[in-house]
Amino acid sequence: MKVVVTGGGGFLGSHLCEALLARGDTVRCLDNYCTGEPLNVALLQGDPRFELIRADVSMDFDVPGHVDAVAHLASPASPPDYDRLPLETLWVGSRGTENALRLAQRHGARFLLTSTSEVYGEPLFHPQTESYWGNVNPVGPRSVYDEAKRYAEALTMAYRRSRGVDTGIVRIFNTYGPRMRPDDGRVVSTFVRQALAGDPLTEYGDGSQTRSFCYVDDLVRGLIAMLDSEHSGPVNLGNPDEFTVDELARLVIEATGSSSVIEHRPLPVDDPTRRRPDITRARDLLGWTPRISLDTGLRRTVAWSAAGRRPVRRSSSGEPVEA
Ligand code: NAD
Ligand code: UDP
Repeated sequence: MKVVVTGGGGFLGSHLCEALLARGDTVRCLDNYCTGEPLNVALLQGDPRFELIRADVSMDFDVPGHVDAVAHLASPASPPDYDRLPLETLWVGSRGTENALRLAQRHGARFLLTSTSEVYGEPLFHPQTESYWGNVNPVGPRSVYDEAKRYAEALTMAYRRSRGVDTGIVRIFNTYGPRMRPDDGRVVSTFVRQALAGDPLTEYGDGSQTRSFCYVDDLVRGLIAMLDSEHSGPVNLGNPDEFTVDELARLVIEATGSSSVIEHRPLPVDDPTRRRPDITRARDLLGWTPRISLDTGLRRTVAWSAAGRRPVRRSSSGEPVEA
C-alpha cells in the first residue's frame, strides 16, 4: 500500500512508519515537528520507499501520486504539549483532520483517525466501552485536546456518511515505549528519566489515580489491523491491565534499580481519576489483543532510555540494537 502518515515524526507515528515499511508498504510521512523530531525517523530515510515531508497539516497540503491509505496521527498528545500549543491542538484536530480526510476522499483512500481515551474525560463508567459517550469538561485546560478529538471523530463520521470516505476511528489509551521524548511530561517518560538520573519521581496527587499502559509495539499492531480493515469504529486500543500511578512509580524504580524517592506534587486540573479500556470490540473485530506486560515493556523502555537518545533500531524481541 502507499500510505500517508501525518505526525509520522512523532512517537507513535515513527513506529507506525517503520512497521509499514517492514511489511513492504511505501510511506510518506508528514510532520511539522512541533512535538516530534526528524531523529525519530532518521534511520528510515535511506529507504527508497520512505519520504519525509515537512508540512503543517492544519494548512492546505497535497501529496503527489497515488494514496491507498491516510493514517492521521498529527496532534500534540501530552498534557504539557497541548497546554503549550492550545490553538495549534484545536487547529490540527479540526482543520488538520479535515485536510487529511479530503486527501483520503480525493484518492478513494482508507482514512484512519487516531482518537484518544480522553474523549471519555472523567469517566462515570468503568472500564470504558466505546458506547460510553464520555464526561468531558468543555472549558477546562484539557478541553483543547479532548474537544478537538471529539470534533475530529464527528468530522470523520460526517465524511463517512455524507462523502462516502472509508473511515476508521481508534481510541488509543496511554501508550509508552522507546522514542518518547524524555521531557514530554507524560508519566512513563518522566518517571524513567527521573529514576535513571536518581532524581525524585514526581507523583501527582496521592498517586491513586489509575491508567492502563500499552506497549508501543502492541499498539502499532492494532493500528495496522484497523487500517487494513473496513470497520468504522470507534475501537478502543489499549492494554486493559490497570495500575495506579503509585504502582507505576514503584515498577519504574524496580526496573531501573534506582534509589530515587517518590515526591508528591499537586494533581493537575481535571486529571481523570481512572481509566481502563474494554477491548472486547478490538478482540472481536480485529482479532487484536496486547501481548506485552507492563513489566516487560518498562524494561525495554528503560534499556532504550539508558542507551541515550540516539536513533536505534530494535531487534524482533524489542531490545535496542546499535545502528
Ligand atoms: P507525538 O507528539 O510524539 O506525535 C505527534 C506528531 O504530530 C509529532 O511528530 C508532531 O510534530 C506532529 N504534529 C502535530 N501537529 C502537527 C501539524 N499541524 N502538522 C504536522 N504534524 C504535526 O505524540 P504521539 O504519542 O505519537 O501521538 C500520536 C497520535 O496518537 C496523536 O494524534 C495522539 O492524540 C494520539 N494518541 C496517543 C496516545 C499515546 O499514549 N501516545 C494516546 C491517545 C491518543
Ligand atoms: N503524572 C504524575 N507525574 C508526572 C506526570 C504525570 O503523577 O510527572 C500522572 C498524571 O497526573 C496522570 C497520569 O500520571 O494521572 C498519566 O499522565 P500522562 O500525562 O502520562 O497521561 P494522561 O493524563 O493524558 O492520561
